[in-house]
Amino acid sequence: MISIQDVSKVYSLESGHFFALKNNNVHIKKGEFVAIMGPSGSGKSTLLQLMGGLDLPTSGEIIVDGIHLNKLSEKERTLFRRTKVGFVFQNYQLLPVLTVAENIALALSANKTPKEEILQRVKQLIKDVNLEGKESMFPSQLSGGQQQRVAIARALAMKPQLIMADEPTGNLDQKNGSDILQLLTKLNKEEKITIVMVTHDEQAATVANRIILIRDGEIVQDRRKGVAINESLASSMA
Ligand code: ADP
Repeated sequence: MISIQDVSKVYSLESGHFFALKNNNVHIKKGEFVAIMGPSGSGKSTLLQLMGGLDLPTSGEIIVDGIHLNKLSEKERTLFRRTKVGFVFQNYQLLPVLTVAENIALALSANKTPKEEILQRVKQLIKDVNLEGKESMFPSQLSGGQQQRVAIARALAMKPQLIMADEPTGNLDQKNGSDILQLLTKLNKEEKITIVMVTHDEQAATVANRIILIRDGEIVQDRRKGVAINESLASSMA
């Protein structure tokens, strides 16, 4: 589903070049629930942004669902993001002037989906994330957990096979965070949606079936439910 090959991301600063990511290789299979963990500033969000086509690597190849992201034009990359990936962010990124239903419908409208189909789909999504009765409310009238559920419904609107979440529980208390992780787990198990989630949340380690640990721009550990995928890396960490 996702193949990262020799990927580096370098930022040019006044002080010189800075490697946010150094020569990383990762392969994520369809249906995996992957948590990317590591200290702040280690490159987690950068890696997620590259996988989601939000940014391009300085070198290396990124292939998602058979699509070589480096080879797409700006326009094709926008279409890729809109149709193939559902994004979920720490601060929800809902539009404050739109209602819950309108926020969820945004990508469908942009994609010129017929109005009747949009209404049906939004209704179903609101049910799926347990927000019935809130469709006409504005984001500011909802709790953080509810806003994140709107964001997840919005991410699901185009029926993506892949969800990329950057600290989805970062602004939530334990209970709401746990509800969001449960919702993501359900989507992963029942809808077989592949999930890649950047997180600091220790609870996340219990729901993901694979944990990739990054330090200083390098993947230093990659474990699937207790099994090291890359033994040499894992043993060098021991
Ligand atoms: P994490 O998600 O692990 O906290 P990030 O991926 O956000 O880390 O950032 C990795 C490193 O790259 C950080 O040191 C950050 O300051 C740097 N960085 C991120 N974006 C930019 C940018 N646009 N310009 C320069 N440096 C950046």
